[in-house]
Amino acid sequence: MSLDPYKVLGVEKNADAAAVKSAYRKLARKHHPDVNPGDKAAEEKFKEISEAYDILSDPAKKNEYDHLGREAFYERGFGGAGYQSPDFSQGGFSFEDIFGDLFGGGGRGRGGGASFSFGRSFGGASAPQKGDDVNLKLTISLREAAFGVEAKLELGIPQTCPQCRGQGLMSSGGGVRTCPGCGGRGQVNQLENLKVKIPAGIENGQKVRLKGKGSPGRNGGPAGDLLAEVATKPDPVFTRKGRDLSAELPVSLYDLLLGGTVEAPTLSGRASLKIPAGTQNGARLRLKGQGMPASKKEAAGDLYVTIRALLPTRLAAGAQKLVRQLAEAAPLGEPT
Ligand SMILES: [Zn+2]
Repeated sequence: MSLDPYKVLGVEKNADAAAVKSAYRKLARKHHPDVNPGDKAAEEKFKEISEAYDILSDPAKKNEYDHLGREAFYERGFGGAGYQSPDFSQGGFSFEDIFGDLFGGGGRGRGGGASFSFGRSFGGASAPQKGDDVNLKLTISLREAAFGVEAKLELGIPQTCPQCRGQGLMSSGGGVRTCPGCGGRGQVNQLENLKVKIPAGIENGQKVRLKGKGSPGRNGGPAGDLLAEVATKPDPVFTRKGRDLSAELPVSLYDLLLGGTVEAPTLSGRASLKIPAGTQNGARLRLKGQGMPASKKEAAGDLYVTIRALLPTRLAAGAQKLVRQLAEAAPLGEPT
C-alpha cells in the first residue's frame, strides 16, 4: 500500500489517538473479511485500513511517516524488516469492539453473549510461546447459577491461519501481499461446539477455564485458554445479594389478619411459609437455607420474602357492612 493513511481512515493530520481508533474501528467493522466473505474489494479495503491504522496508531511510525513522506516511508517499511501486521492487542481495545455483534447469543438463548479479546504479536522471539487467553462472557440464569449447568456454545475458536501460518502476509510474484485467508490477521476462526460446565452455586464474575481453547500458540507453543466469566442475568422473581435471595410475595389480607400458611416461591420450587396473625404489609419473613445453595466455601443463603397485602378490589354492600363492623370492633392503633 502506498496510500495516505490519513485519507484511508478519513482523519485529520492532527487527529488524536481516540479519533484514529474510532475511525479505524468503524471501518474495520464494515470491511472485515469475516463480515464480507469472498468480497475481494472489501478484503483489499480492510488491508488498507489495517495498514493505515498500523501506522497512525504507532507514535513512532506516525512520526516517521509524517517526516519521511509517503514514498520514502513505504520504501523503508516494506524494504526492510520493519513491517509488522497490525497487532490487535495494542491500542487498548478488545476484539469485542469490532466483532461483538457477530458472537451475540452465545448459545444459551437470550442474554447469552460472548466476547473475545485477542492479543498477538509478530516478529521478535522465535521461542515457543503460549497463545493468549481468550475471555468470554457467559450469561446464565439464576437457577443455572444455583444448580449448575452445562452450557453449550458454538464459538469461533481462533486458529493459526493455515494459508500464511500465522504471518498474515504471503509472498507473491517477488512481493508481499496480505494473506487472503485471514485478511492479515494471521488467525482464522473455526467453529467449535464447546461444553462449559458451570458448577452449582457459582459466584457472579467467577471464571471457568477451558484449557487450550484460546488463541493458538506461537512457534509451536501451546494454545492459550478460554476463560468464561459467568454473569447471572436478572431473575423475574428473585434478587440476589451474595448468597441470600429476596422476593416479593402477595398474601391475602385475611391471612395477614388471621394468620395462615401460604406457599412461597423458592429456587427449587415452593416452600410453605407460616404467616403469623397480624403480619403487616411490607413485613420481611425469612426462609432459612432457601437462598443460593451452599458452595465449597460458604453455607447456603436465606430467602427473604417481603409481604405485599392483597386486598379485595370491590366490596359488595354486604361486605362493606362487615368491614365497617370490623373497623368499629378493631380500631387501628388500639389493642383488640
Ligand atoms: Zn493467513
